[in-house]
Amino acid sequence: MFKKVLIANRGEIALRVHRACKEMGVQTVAIHSTADADAMHVRMADESVCVGPAPASQSYLSIPNIISACEITGAEAIHPGYGFLSENANFVQIVEDHGIAFIGPSAEHIRLMGDKITAKDTMKQLGVPCVPGSDGGVPTVTDAARLAADIGFPVIVKATAGGGGRGMKLARTAGELETAFQTARSEAKAAFGNDEVYLEKYLGRPRHIEIQVFGDGKGRAVHLGERDCSLQRRHQKVLEESPSPVIDAEARARIGAVCADAVARIGYSGAGTIEFLYEDGEFFFIEMNTRLQVEHPVTEAVYGVDLVQEQIRVAAGMPMTFSQENLVPSGHAIECRINAERLPNFQPSPGKVKTYYAPGGLGVRMDSAIYDGYVIPPYYDSLVGKLIVHGQSRDLALARLRRALAELVVDGIDTTTPLFHALLDEPDIQRGDYNIHWLEKWLAAAG
Ligand code: ADP
Repeated sequence: MFKKVLIANRGEIALRVHRACKEMGVQTVAIHSTADADAMHVRMADESVCVGPAPASQSYLSIPNIISACEITGAEAIHPGYGFLSENANFVQIVEDHGIAFIGPSAEHIRLMGDKITAKDTMKQLGVPCVPGSDGGVPTVTDAARLAADIGFPVIVKATAGGGGRGMKLARTAGELETAFQTARSEAKAAFGNDEVYLEKYLGRPRHIEIQVFGDGKGRAVHLGERDCSLQRRHQKVLEESPSPVIDAEARARIGAVCADAVARIGYSGAGTIEFLYEDGEFFFIEMNTRLQVEHPVTEAVYGVDLVQEQIRVAAGMPMTFSQENLVPSGHAIECRINAERLPNFQPSPGKVKTYYAPGGLGVRMDSAIYDGYVIPPYYDSLVGKLIVHGQSRDLALARLRRALAELVVDGIDTTTPLFHALLDEPDIQRGDYNIHWLEKWLAAAG
């Protein structure tokens, strides 16, 4: 096992990784920007290194500074958390070239799944069901028009390098295709420096269902069921739950086995998530995330496991403790992403937290790095905490969520907490009857 791990992240996820390390007897090194000198992840870690000024490009994304921080402190491994450098194959390569272990999959697997056309092609060959669409990239509008006529409108033009919902454009009719195609290309070029796009059938009312997988890098892999992340605003997840209200044990076992088999066959190492759109009982692969997800705690609650500790163990060359027979789901978990944002327009609301009180009690987990008097800097994303509840049934989890949200106090800044109170009053949410468009429509109707 490693003696010391550097955590190349900030906020709640840096604390999450720190906690996993401490329980394993591993020392931690925090990195931080000058804007984060007082952050909780810095206070909690055994050691800390300032890696640069406030802009992430000069600190949390500065590969030379992070490698130096490892060398100065003698950290043997790096946990990237999510976001920042977590899916940067070049970073992984450099880390390994310096004799430091990367807690995550290989650079090769990150690269494979980071290019969506290659990812889709690979998954198709591995027997994973995909959204109908073009086989590979579509070079010209004329090709796009021919393919779209085959696939049938509406279609979605997507960037192979895409992420965060960028480089993705809908064409409802043939008349909209040229604009969608050109806009997706120029957006992709500007955001990712790669303008290759492909075409997919646009699904009208799917749910977003993702399968958590875990591999030992030696050809063994398991799945830990699904998360339903259909409640989205601008392609960003807002609330996640496990199990999905529409997936039964048989469907879970079937799609789970397909996913576990696919990652086993490529020799995948560590945690990964295979994302699907689900409509009329069918799964359609959209992408694979080669890292720990923000919403991993709902899976941890339902399966009673620590995904971060398992990541660390496997990265240290130890055998995976998970086996498919021992992974038995129990109860229902829901996560709310509490953002420092002002409703109804979701404008960022950084600033000083006057009072923070975290909910507690049976089945309640609050992952956050804020505290009384903490000043949320304006430079990073607006997630200030994740409230996760677990109950023996979905109804009990909903009741527990309502109770826990009422206990939460974050004074001094605006947060998205009132949104969750309102959502819990909605019969569709209470029934679990929603798809990926539900929240946008509801927000539009609420004005
Ligand atoms: P990104 O990597 O940018 O997040 P994804 O491929 O994961 O892109 O898609 C993000 C979201 O866009 C999905 O969760 C879904 O809401 C929507 N989406 C993507 N592909 C389709 C499709 N073929 N039909 C309908 N919606 C889609």
